[in-house]
Amino acid sequence: MKHVEADNFINGKFIRTERPRLNVYSPLDGMVISTVPLCGYNELEEAVIAAKNAFPKWSGLTSKKRSEVLYRYHSILLHHISEIAAIIHDENGKAIAEVEKSIELTEFACSIPQITAGEILKVSEGVVCQTEYTPLGVVASICPFNFPHMVPHWTIPTNIALGNCIILKPSEQVPVTALKIAEMLKEAGLPDGVLNIVHGDKTMVEAICDHPGIKAVSFVGSTEIAKVVYRRSTTNLKRCLALGGAKNHLIVFPDADPEMTATDITASFSGTSGQRCMAASVMIAIGNVDHIIEKLCNETRKVKPGLNLGPIISQTSKEKIIKYIDRVEKSGAKILIDGRNAPVEGEGDKNGYYIGPTIIEYSYPGNQMPQEEVFGPVFEIVHVKSLDEAIALENNSPYGNAASAFTQNGGLADEVAAKASAGMIGINIGVPVPREPFSFGGWNDSKFGTGDLTGKGGIEFWTQLKKITKKWKKQERTDWMS
Ligand code: NAD
Repeated sequence: MKHVEADNFINGKFIRTERPRLNVYSPLDGMVISTVPLCGYNELEEAVIAAKNAFPKWSGLTSKKRSEVLYRYHSILLHHISEIAAIIHDENGKAIAEVEKSIELTEFACSIPQITAGEILKVSEGVVCQTEYTPLGVVASICPFNFPHMVPHWTIPTNIALGNCIILKPSEQVPVTALKIAEMLKEAGLPDGVLNIVHGDKTMVEAICDHPGIKAVSFVGSTEIAKVVYRRSTTNLKRCLALGGAKNHLIVFPDADPEMTATDITASFSGTSGQRCMAASVMIAIGNVDHIIEKLCNETRKVKPGLNLGPIISQTSKEKIIKYIDRVEKSGAKILIDGRNAPVEGEGDKNGYYIGPTIIEYSYPGNQMPQEEVFGPVFEIVHVKSLDEAIALENNSPYGNAASAFTQNGGLADEVAAKASAGMIGINIGVPVPREPFSFGGWNDSKFGTGDLTGKGGIEFWTQLKKITKKWKKQERTDWMS
């Protein structure tokens, strides 16, 4: 990738600051591909002023007018899929691009004028009550490293359609992709100040939580930081939705289709190198599912670092994952497939931060699986004897993003769906992401705040409902309300 400096984008212009800068390393080969400034309150203040100035005119347009920008943006995205995918590949290492999902999210936002019509009802003689979704003003979206294009599209297109002005804080590990979003929205005709991008780390995030000009904050990242952001933003009386980490459990029954289960689970836990909050993390095997585990291992052996498996985001994260595997191995868990020293194949660079897919099996009864999120291409298997035990194990996880059942029995699948303590349930699905208009959002320590972030949930979160009650004719018969 051509070396591009990550600059802030404020009021329609890329702006260089004199702040200290961090190197941005490509996980593909460990080379420096960019630098990112560590900004703070002053740059945020400039962004908030730009957004505040843009808000009256932008929110004053009809939503149909605002969505015209998104139609043009959608077409620009379609024409530049491979260019964007190449940037994501360089800075995040991802082999399969996420741009198609960003396009789908933009399509949903294009439909917002059709689904936010509000309600109207004659509530009394001569009296009509109606509702309107009204924008909040200046809002902020804080993003993680693992989906540098898609996660910003969870929030940007929806806010554009709804009439808010938005401040985006990308992860300092992947700041370059966001620049393309700004560039392309500008090309689509988005007025200056409606989208602003500020770079930084903890200091910038804290400034966002504290700034009195920002009405609502969304956060996507680890649970530890989600808690900090949720507490700090809500203490400052902001609306906040903070999505955290995950450890997703898949309950596998002996009657599950072996082929489908093995391929879906492999794709789920190794896709994006396991760096996604919806990845399959744990199989809770009920009874004897050895034939499925065997197929799963065979399928996993086809996944090769550098060939069809991308790297981990950083050397630090890679070391953390390896330490986790070392630790559970020491505690007695069996490593069925060991990715710790897997060779890098194909076009992959030996200096890239690669780990091969790894499958860990815990004995029953016996060694305990740690509760923490691994966030790498690591899949863990625990054994139980009954569905009740499986549900108890799943419910005991502090997280609650996703849970799945793999079975051919509808009754058992429905029982898992009813009893699992997770916001997104899959039946024979490895990555049960609800697609729009359904909303994305987990439970428990995977999400802090009310409602969901995308789809219809996003409309509720990013707007406030105005209720207007009207009467015009004084000669109308009056009752207690008129
Ligand atoms: P992270 O929590 O380290 O960083 C997320 C954001 O918080 C970044 O913008 C970063 O600059 C900022 N940040 C980092 N440290 C901070 C601190 N001490 N104080 C304030 N802000 C800070 O997360 P990550 O490593 O970028 O992303 C991976 C995590 O995100 C995983 O836990 C994953 O499960 C989670 N995730 C969750 C979802 C979901 O929908 N629930 C989606 C994607 C990723």
